[in-house]
Amino acid sequence: MIHIAIDGPSGAGKSTIARLVAARLGFMYIDTGALYRSVGVAALKRGFDPGDEKKVEQMLPTIRVTLGFVDGIQHVYVNDEDVSVQIRLPEASMAASAVSALPAVRRFLFGLQQDLAASHNCVMDGRDIGTVVLPDAEVKIFLTASPEVRAQRRYRELIEKGNEVNFDTLLKEIIQRDYNDSHRAVAPLKKADDAVEIDSSEMTLDEVTEQILAIVHQKIGEKA
Ligand code: C5P
Repeated sequence: MIHIAIDGPSGAGKSTIARLVAARLGFMYIDTGALYRSVGVAALKRGFDPGDEKKVEQMLPTIRVTLGFVDGIQHVYVNDEDVSVQIRLPEASMAASAVSALPAVRRFLFGLQQDLAASHNCVMDGRDIGTVVLPDAEVKIFLTASPEVRAQRRYRELIEKGNEVNFDTLLKEIIQRDYNDSHRAVAPLKKADDAVEIDSSEMTLDEVTEQILAIVHQKIGEKA
């Protein structure tokens, strides 16, 4: 199997780019953030704080998280309920960030991510794919962009969807999530030593996609 790991902070464009790269290669795209979001949403639904380690740990044996693909689009299920829409709500982002700091949650999702990778050529995006989940991935990309550019992109996306949002609040949230993700004790966001770093601040989606495809072809040549 061939594995491409794309890690980086929130809003760097990982999911859009990972999806484009996967489509061009005919690989499966696996969005691991959706898994953490689904655990966060499960905690919110049960009415407790997603950062409450004891309660979240007690919940884990009672939930089954699975991924499915409908017309090639990833859907996430918690105990067979499709939570794909709920996990995109703003409160799900902070809930995901909170549960992702808990070692029990990372252990819970680790096996699922490895099982998916074991049976598929895939492009997997997240925070610790190149460092922890798939340390032997053939290609590792660390995708970044400045916090201002990431907030600007998110702002435009939300405004286009008709949401009322405040730019400064978005920027603060991005900076807070970056801090949480890179300072947690387990599997913090950090570039793998053998990852190629790409700063997408001044690049278009197409440019980033082409650069990653060039790296893939160079590293694995004919296999891809
Ligand atoms: O990528 P996305 O924004 O959907 O991820 C939501 C949250 O899940 C992140 O802020 C991060 O805290 C967490 N996450 C993680 N490890 C991953 C993917 C996501 O800790 N592999």
